[in-house]
Parts: sequence; structure tokens; C-alpha cells
Amino acid sequence: MGSNNSDWKKKLPPEQYNVLRQCGTEPPFTGKFYRHKENGIYVCAACGNELFASGTKFESGSGWPSFYDVKEKGNVILEEDNSAGMKRIEVKCAKCMGHLGHVFDDGPNPTGKRYCINSLALDFAKGKGDEK
Ligand code: FE
Repeated sequence: MGSNNSDWKKKLPPEQYNVLRQCGTEPPFTGKFYRHKENGIYVCAACGNELFASGTKFESGSGWPSFYDVKEKGNVILEEDNSAGMKRIEVKCAKCMGHLGHVFDDGPNPTGKRYCINSLALDFAKGKGDEK
């Protein structure tokens, strides 16, 4: 599946389509992975690309799943986002170009980054992932 939105509309549930293909944001404190603590890999809900490892997840207080690093450099793409009257960096899946969330510079060590990601953009593969 490519980046054609009409194809994704048939495949994704409406609330996931809204986030992944229309840059929507789920309400804070509502996502299924916000308080999720198992060991594993968070993957793109649309295409399965490995995005974040559970070992980098931390409690940010923001209401969204937060990670201080990505699983593999190159699995996500960062783009300037000047929408909504803010200057932010958008995080996208490098494989399907789906919108995941944003990254901020107020995260913990060792990176100082806070990847603020919508639960609706994620799926979870249990069992591995504590390594990073
Ligand atoms: Fe993807």
C-alpha cells in the first residue's frame, strides 16, 4: 500500500485514518498505549514499520505515549510543521508516510527528545524491545 489516501480510507478505521492520514490528534489521556508498560516494539498501525521500543518509553505527563528515542534512525521522517499557529516538528512513518505525532526538545536523557505519539497511530508487538 502506498501513500494514496483513498486506499488507506478503505483499510483504516475512521479514528485511525484521521490521525495517520489527516494529521489528527487523539484527545490526551485517552489512548490505549498512554499507560501501557509491557516489553515490546511499538509499530506503525498502518504498515507495521518498527517505530519505538518499550525501553525508551517514559511518563511525560502529556497524556500521550512518549519516547525519548526511535527504534531505528530512518524508520521515521521528521518534517517542519507550522500548522495550528505553532512551530513544531512532525514525526511520520518513513514507510507509509503516516502521521504519528510530534517531537519536542524537552525529553529526558540520553537524547533530550520527547517523541509525543498518538496511540491511534501505533500497534504493539509483544516480547522484544527492551534493548532500546
Ligand atoms: Fe507506516
